[in-house]
Amino acid sequence: MRLLIIGPQGAGKGTQADLLCGEFGIPHVSTGDLFRANIGAGTELGRRAQGYMDAGELVPDSVTQDMVTDRLAQPDAAAGFLLDGFPRNIAQAEWLTATLADRGTPIESVVLLTAPDEVLTERMLARGRADDTAEAIKKRLDIYYSETQPLVDYYGSAVVAIDGVGEVDEIHRRIMTAVAPTRLDSTRSASTRSASA
Ligand code: AMP
Repeated sequence: MRLLIIGPQGAGKGTQADLLCGEFGIPHVSTGDLFRANIGAGTELGRRAQGYMDAGELVPDSVTQDMVTDRLAQPDAAAGFLLDGFPRNIAQAEWLTATLADRGTPIESVVLLTAPDEVLTERMLARGRADDTAEAIKKRLDIYYSETQPLVDYYGSAVVAIDGVGEVDEIHRRIMTAVAPTRLDSTRSASTRSASA
């Protein structure tokens, strides 16, 4: 299973990505998390990314793509993965399409998770991440609408649009219904999960 999850910051991508990865047994590859891990570990990559992240700007494509190449080359990504926060613009999407086409492993589904701006801003301020200043939040939303949202047209019929307002479990069910209606194994683990919740 090779999935993308797209949506503005604060739509709940990370939470839903974790749930989906649990269902499908695939790694959650978040470029934001990878950058933050590099910053935490004081790597050269982290140092290159930090200024862009603090300003709410995109890290240059080449830096980001090299990081994604390394991550997808790891053995746990061989059977599938969920990319969260990548691609973030058309150039990254074209690069990803070409890279995956070389391997014969295209993206199968694109989950688009959305919520109104007021909800997004409220959620981002509540999580209190270092780069969640009012200014950086506004900048990231602007970039989302100008650079990332065009991916919805780019991926066309592969996109399933999901309303990101509501309870976490309910939103998860919406995504599962849209992405994997015929996967008996995932249906079974979904009902096990909600029964034990
Ligand atoms: P996120 O955790 O997805 O909100 O990402 C946090 C920050 O990491 C973003 O504001 C960007 O500065 C950087 N970042 C994450 N993913 C990408 C990407 N695909 N391209 C460029 N920059 C990214």
